[in-house]
Amino acid sequence: MVHKVSGQCLCGGVRFVAEAKTHDVTVCHCSMCNRWSGGVSMFMDVIGAPEFEGRDLIGIYRSSDWGERAFCKVCGSSLFWKLAGKDRYTLSTGALNDQTVLTMATEIFIEDKPAYYAFANDTVKLSGPDAMAAFVEEPDGA
Ligand SMILES: [Zn+2]
Ligand SMILES: [Zn+2]
Repeated sequence: MVHKVSGQCLCGGVRFVAEAKTHDVTVCHCSMCNRWSGGVSMFMDVIGAPEFEGRDLIGIYRSSDWGERAFCKVCGSSLFWKLAGKDRYTLSTGALNDQTVLTMATEIFIEDKPAYYAFANDTVKLSGPDAMAAFVEEPDGA
């Protein structure tokens, strides 16, 4: 079953709609996500590329050989992480309009998690290498 999701940045200049197979949230504890978003980052996989409004306000930062991070050039909101050169997107769950339907399912880069927090949710916990291998094997989104 496919769900519609929508969201926007803090200033509202960037808006998007996308389709997802689940409402599962993946938490990433890696040091790049921590710096990028100002804390722990949470994402939802979507199918293909979202439709964007305000595309000219989206800034892209190539944070690694394989990944790109997008933000609003006006308000700085973290919008999505995607595989470089591919329509494989994970949206920042904080940007989503309806967060009541979300379920925290997986925590990745668990070995990089700072010691000062720990989620009580019952989640699957994956190392960084295991998480990246699983991600690349699921080209349509999980
Ligand atoms: Zn904005
Ligand atoms: Zn990360």
